[in-house]
Amino acid sequence: MTHRTAIAQIPKADTSRTRLDSHRLRRDFPLLQEALHKGVPLAYLDNAATTQKPMQVIEALHEYYTSYNSNVHRALHRLGEQATLRFEEARTKVAAFIGAPSTRSIVFTRGTTESINIVAHTLGRCRVQDGDIIMLTGMEHHSNLVPWQLLAKQRNAKLEFIPICEDGTLDLDAFESMLTERVRLVSVTHMSNVLGTIHPVKRIVDSAHRVGAKVLIDGAQSVPHFPIDVESIGCDFLAFSGHKMAGPTGIGVLYGKEELLEEMPPFMGGGEMISKVTLESSTWAELPYKFEAGTPHIAGAIGLGAAVDYLNALGMDCIHQRESELTTYALQKLGEIRGLRILGCAPERGGIISFIMDAVHPHDLSQFVDQNGVAIRAGHMCCQPLMHILGVQSVSRASFYLYNTEEEVDQLIEALDQAMRFFSNGI
Ligand code: PMP
Repeated sequence: MTHRTAIAQIPKADTSRTRLDSHRLRRDFPLLQEALHKGVPLAYLDNAATTQKPMQVIEALHEYYTSYNSNVHRALHRLGEQATLRFEEARTKVAAFIGAPSTRSIVFTRGTTESINIVAHTLGRCRVQDGDIIMLTGMEHHSNLVPWQLLAKQRNAKLEFIPICEDGTLDLDAFESMLTERVRLVSVTHMSNVLGTIHPVKRIVDSAHRVGAKVLIDGAQSVPHFPIDVESIGCDFLAFSGHKMAGPTGIGVLYGKEELLEEMPPFMGGGEMISKVTLESSTWAELPYKFEAGTPHIAGAIGLGAAVDYLNALGMDCIHQRESELTTYALQKLGEIRGLRILGCAPERGGIISFIMDAVHPHDLSQFVDQNGVAIRAGHMCCQPLMHILGVQSVSRASFYLYNTEEEVDQLIEALDQAMRFFSNGI
C-alpha cells in the first residue's frame, strides 16, 4: 500500500495532558496530504458530517480483505476463526471505549440512525402505549426525530420537546417540570450538530429516571470528541457512528443496558440472530447477536476497532483539549468578521460552529470557499425544526477534528473575507 511511510508515531495513551500536535497527526491521514484546486491545500472542516481516516484504519481494512477475509461466527476453518476473533476483539474495544460493563450490551449497527431506529421499533413497541409521551429537544438531527414520529403515530403517543434557551442550551428546569409518569422515553443529542452545545446528559438521565423514563443519548457528535462513560452517565442507550470517529462508514454502535436489550424483541429476523428455528417459530440468540441479523459489516467493525485504538493512543481528553483550543481560536476569528453571525453561544460546547453571513447564501458561500480549498457544510444540517426555531432556512457550518490546525482556520477566514467582498460587489 502507498502512504505506509507516512504513518506518524502515535504517542502511547497518557492521561496527563499531552498537547496533541495536529500538524504531525495529519501525516496519518492520506487524504489530507492531497491538494485541491491546483495546489491550494485542503482545509477539511466538515468533520461533523464525516471524518477522514488514518492509515491505521485503512490498513486494518486492507489486512482483513487481503489476509483473512471470511464470514464470522459460523466457519470452523482458520480464516473464519481469525475473522471472528478480530470482529469480537473490536466489540471488546468499543465496550471499553465507552465504559460499558460487558460486550453483551454492544450491538453493531450501520450507524447512529439504525441504532436509534432499533430502539424506537423494539423498546418503543413494548413500552409506549396510547397517550404516553416521548420527550425530545427541538435541536435533534432528523435521525433522532423521525423514528419517534413514526412510533408516536403507531402507538398514538405524543412527542414533547425540551425548550431551547437563547444561548443554545436546554431549559432543564422546564424539562424537569414537564416530567410525569407518562413520559416513557427521553431521547436527546449529547452534542448538537448545529450549535455545538454539549448537554448535561447526566442531569437529564437522573431526572428522567426519577419518573421511570428510559433515556437514549445520541452520541454521534460526542463519542468521537471526548471521553464518555455510559456507567457514570447512567443512560439506558447510547447510539453512535464509526465514520465520525476516524472509522469506516456503514458501521455504528447501539449500547443498551442488558436488561433492556433482553426485554426488547428482535429488530430484524434472519441468520445469526436465532437460537432454534422450526417451520412455525424461532427462539433468539443471546445478546448482542439477537440484534445482528445476517452477515455483519465485518471489515467495518474491525476498522472501527482500529479507530478506537488510534483515538485511545492519543487520549480522548487530549483530543477534547486540542479541539477546545482550536474552537476558541475559530470563534474569536469568526467573531471579528463583520456581517457574520454565529449561532449559539453555550458555555459548554464542542468543535462545531454554525454561522450566517448577511451578504451570502450558505450554499453560495460553501461553493465559493471550496474554490479556496476549504470544505465546509451548507444547508439545514438535517435539523429542519431547529432551522425553523432559529428563523433561518439554512446555515454554514465549520466542524473540527484532531487533525485541524489554526492555519486551516485562517484559510477559512481568508476565504470568508474574500466571499464577503465578492458578494458585496466589492471586487
Ligand atoms: N445524530 C447526529 C447528532 C448527527 O450529527 C448525525 C450525523 N450527522 C446523526 C445522528 C446520524 O448519523 P448517521 O448518518 O451516521 O447514522
